Amino acid sequence: MKAKFSCMLAAVLLAGCAPSQKDYMKEAEELQRSILTLDTHTDTPMRLWNANYHIDQDNPSGCIDFPKMRQGSLDVESFAVFTSQGGRDTAFYNKAYKRGLETFDKILELPVKYPDLVGIVGCPQDMYDLKAAGKLGILPTIENATLIGDDLGRLKELYDKGARIFGLVHSYHNDICDSSSDKKAPEHNGLSELGERVVLEINRLGGVVDVSHASDSTFFDVVKISKAPIMASHSSVRAVADHNRNFSDQMLEALKENGGVIQICILPDYVKKVPDNPSYKEEYEALRNLYRQTPGENTARRDSIRAEMTALKEKYPDQKIYIRDYVDHIDYVVKKIGEDYVGIGTDFDGGGGIDDCKNASQMIGITAELLKRGYTKEQIEKIWGGNFIRVFNKAIEVAQSLK
Ligand SMILES: [Zn+2]
Repeated sequence: MKAKFSCMLAAVLLAGCAPSQKDYMKEAEELQRSILTLDTHTDTPMRLWNANYHIDQDNPSGCIDFPKMRQGSLDVESFAVFTSQGGRDTAFYNKAYKRGLETFDKILELPVKYPDLVGIVGCPQDMYDLKAAGKLGILPTIENATLIGDDLGRLKELYDKGARIFGLVHSYHNDICDSSSDKKAPEHNGLSELGERVVLEINRLGGVVDVSHASDSTFFDVVKISKAPIMASHSSVRAVADHNRNFSDQMLEALKENGGVIQICILPDYVKKVPDNPSYKEEYEALRNLYRQTPGENTARRDSIRAEMTALKEKYPDQKIYIRDYVDHIDYVVKKIGEDYVGIGTDFDGGGGIDDCKNASQMIGITAELLKRGYTKEQIEKIWGGNFIRVFNKAIEVAQSLK
């Protein structure tokens, strides 16, 4: 009788000791507010073209706005000036460049419009200063350097405008390098001669070279030629989810040697291979094609397509993907090459978002999952930005040494 009572007591005590998911959320929230948190890739600037989108309000659609960043305790968001790959002639380059500069102007207007809420990040210290002042930070970046054409002077102009991360390519090969997603045969087998000059110019300026979307051979050329550590602003790991946009083990090893960082992307296809379901696939692909064909600035239509994609998951629950699947990628990188080379790059407003982390307001769940897996505050701080900041500082240091 006594033994039975002791067992029951032990069971009660054990239940009391095992923290529930809710406890992790509370702890995660406190921890996250005490550290600097940053996300290195979003396509939110496309929304700035929409007159009905107000970034200072909690928008029903869209992944990022100031209230959502506050709720998810996200201090700094990278805003990508994105160029969809078009024809590779002077007319296209001039048009893309003009559009890029106009998008920059929309980003730079934000601190003018909301001086008490937000500031632009030009160097790592700015992030800490903005956080100390109770403001959010925006780190401007380039996604697809094709907009420069073959004019390296434009890289300097973009840097002077505020760009600090330079993505070389998007879903198709360009004049700079090969893409990981282009179905056509490789054009340059990595970086072109122009591409090599682009990488060295980014190094000279003090920007960070971003290899997300680049083919494997481009990646290996970049780590060979870059004078500074590089980054993947939004890529995941092939051993966890086999996708050509993700990093192989060999790439992870080379990234470690380079001293760079991979910011794990939260785009469903890159996070988890869900079971094959032909009906779901057919319906999803139809929506995705529709999404791709819808111009980026038609955000209302894109939002309604995304809502349909989300609703489809309710019909096919085996297709759902969760934060725990996402954190598997972080875990993998940490176990493979160490805790100093991994971070977070959501691709929000560009396809990023999973079932329990659809927008910036739900980011604390990632910290909760890391805590649940035994990560320490120091490790979480590195993942949430420390590792990228090391790369960012090093890029600036290298540029100074090249002067
Ligand atoms: Zn992208």
